[in-house]
Amino acid sequence: MTEAATDAPMIRMVEVDKFFGQLHVLKNINIEVPRGQVVVVLGPSGSGKSTLCRSINRLEPINSGLIEIDGKPLPAEGKELATLRADVGMVFQSFNLFAHKTILDNVMLAPVKVRKMAQPEAKRTAMELLERVGIANQAQKYPAQLSGGQQQRAAIARALAMKPKVMLFDEPTSALDPEMINEVLDVMTTLAEEGMTMLVVTHEMGFARNAAHRVVFMADGEIVEDSVPTEFFSAPKSNRAKDFLGKIL
Ligand code: ADP
Ligand code: MG
Repeated sequence: MTEAATDAPMIRMVEVDKFFGQLHVLKNINIEVPRGQVVVVLGPSGSGKSTLCRSINRLEPINSGLIEIDGKPLPAEGKELATLRADVGMVFQSFNLFAHKTILDNVMLAPVKVRKMAQPEAKRTAMELLERVGIANQAQKYPAQLSGGQQQRAAIARALAMKPKVMLFDEPTSALDPEMINEVLDVMTTLAEEGMTMLVVTHEMGFARNAAHRVVFMADGEIVEDSVPTEFFSAPKSNRAKDFLGKIL
């Protein structure tokens, strides 16, 4: 196996197309996310943002084009795919924690199973991560005993436990009560400041303005704009972006 070149972008998509039956949901997608960059993906509902995220860790297969993580093409199956999934952390709108496991066990599970980490080390790492996201005191509880914001922070800790190279967030705060949104965004902002490579689908424009290096605007399966936040918010080029911003700001 070849070592990935360190200057390769962390995520690279070249001419990616994806169909659901007749529906063309990703149209000639070209995007690169360099190491350490935070890219926020904006766009109306149905524009293909979730499909884009899901294609990056192969939860959705693509029909044509190329996707590389850290210089290596996405594997289709087997052990390589499990390793890829470990390298690409994902946090969803619905927290997707295992309901019948404690928060601590949720965070320890994959490192032990996939990374073959020894129990004591996995526990130590998990507790450190729960500390970092501010819920170490909830470690022995079950997901249903936590607030939505706490559950989402647990989901972030669980993804980080795999020591991912890149984190994907798909509307991580959309299911939360308003008073809990900031506690999750704060954790994400800290991660961004620490240099994590992140692709974040969100409608939180404050996060996009403050934490993103780049904003990618999607409409109808296409990347319509790809620019720095100040430029995107002050002078969007396309009518579709102007229309979108007009509705949400
Ligand atoms: P977004 O996240 O921007 O709202 P999605 O990626 O979820 O958009 O969806 C893009 C398009 O693909 C939508 O038209 C949606 O209805 C369709 N779609 C998403 N998932 C599926 C699926 N599993 N089967 C068929 N169509 C789907
Ligand atoms: Mg979506």
